[in-house]
Amino acid sequence: MKQLTNNKENCPYCNADLQGEPILNEDQEWYGATHFTRKIGMYDLEKDRTIKWKCPDCGGEWDRL
Ligand SMILES: [Zn+2]
Repeated sequence: MKQLTNNKENCPYCNADLQGEPILNEDQEWYGATHFTRKIGMYDLEKDRTIKWKCPDCGGEWDRL
């Protein structure tokens, strides 16, 4: 099983650590990440994709890259 890189990230507004609980080793490949994320996905029904992220701490929103 390949080793996934750490997906640590911070809020661009308040710099809060958005990395959540660690994902169990056996589940990391399925999730494609080493940790869950605390950021909130803003889903656009028309575009059928997540277009923005929202910080759970300060409420700041930013475009998904
Ligand atoms: Zn924030």
